[in-house]
Amino acid sequence: MAEPVAPAGTSTTTGPERLAGYTTLRVGGPVRRVLTPTTEAELVATVRDLDAAGEPVLVLGGGSNVLVGEAGFDGTVVRVATRGIDADVASCSGAVLTVAAGEPWEDLVRYTVEREYSGLETLAGIPGLVGGTPIQNVGAYGTEVGQLITTVKTLDRSTGQVRTFFAVECQFGYRSSRFKSEPGRYLVLAVTFQLRLGSLSAPIRYPELARVLGVEVGARVPAPEVAAAVLDLRRGKGMVLDDADPDTWSAGSFFTNPLLDADAAAALPADAPRFPQPDGRTKTSAAWLIERAGCGKGFGEGPARVSSKHSLALTNRGGATADDVLELARRVRAGVERAYGITLVPEPVLVGCEL
Ligand SMILES: Cc1cc2nc3c(=O)[nH]c(=O)nc-3n(C[C@H](O)[C@H](O)[C@H](O)COP(=O)(O)OP(=O)(O)OC[C@H]3O[C@@H](n4cnc5c(N)ncnc54)[C@H](O)[C@@H]3O)c2cc1C
Repeated sequence: MAEPVAPAGTSTTTGPERLAGYTTLRVGGPVRRVLTPTTEAELVATVRDLDAAGEPVLVLGGGSNVLVGEAGFDGTVVRVATRGIDADVASCSGAVLTVAAGEPWEDLVRYTVEREYSGLETLAGIPGLVGGTPIQNVGAYGTEVGQLITTVKTLDRSTGQVRTFFAVECQFGYRSSRFKSEPGRYLVLAVTFQLRLGSLSAPIRYPELARVLGVEVGARVPAPEVAAAVLDLRRGKGMVLDDADPDTWSAGSFFTNPLLDADAAAALPADAPRFPQPDGRTKTSAAWLIERAGCGKGFGEGPARVSSKHSLALTNRGGATADDVLELARRVRAGVERAYGITLVPEPVLVGCEL
């Protein structure tokens, strides 16, 4: 098989390297080669060439939502490193920002808050890159990116053609999108967001956030205050990455909140959290179930443990392998299954491993 040639400017690393170095859980086995294209043209050419050569490709952004197995990835990892924010600001349409997939998400949030483009402030502190956000419709504290995205520009790897989707075509749902349901088909090249102009945040929808801000749900607050309050809340839950604190070395929430039909929701204990959804289902809290099933904060004995600050985050306390994390995840899932008959679904993308 012909070895695809990396376009000029694309940095290349050849193995043996371990994917642990590229993921926030700090686990994952070897990879044959890592390419890091820095422009959109290089990114497209790199992935098209690899696809044409039949080479297995793993696209990675910040590696903050993946669990890579100990076998690693027998192929090429393409790390997205494209940069650039193109801002079109007008009083009637607000700030329309077209952002390269490789921009760090936290930088984008800071950029918008500083310039008084409101909407992203509750998403402060989420790691990873912009291109990763539409994949699972990233959300926190009452906002999901799908509410603010107008278009997603992709390379459709099944045809080799560039294809741009309007938000309505992206099938955004709770931690889901068409990009997540067809894994690997679409390479996200750029995301366009439409934000309001003004120093005040979007209305605060999340009761816990409203409480710490000292306002009613629905109030608007200066956006920098919202971003700061969110960062504080997140730090308290170990949900801001900190190199010095292994209690934060995770992939964020490891399980999604279960969406239950009427019968399953009725079978929940009376005091379980219930959030009615527009489609008639009921969302409950995975963290609550885990805690009540006896697998909550700090659960586990080995180097992989449930975070001591948040029962939804599985952490690598140093020296854990992917197998340690998987074993812990299985124990937590089994505990909840035994107690409540609900099978938790992992949120991160599992690469070369399964629960
Ligand atoms: C401490 C912590 C807190 C977190 N908090 C939250 C939170 O509050 N809310 C939330 O929703 N998530 C949260 N996450 C999860 C994660 O940060 C987000 O899902 C993030 O958007 C993932 O981006 P990434 O660049 O790291 O993606 P990666 O982990 O690199 O990739 C994730 C998946 O997306 C694919 N992918 C990545 N980039 C592209 C691209 N350009 N084109 C096509 N496919 C791509 C990968 O192939 C993989 O399948 C958290 C994670 C951590 C570690």
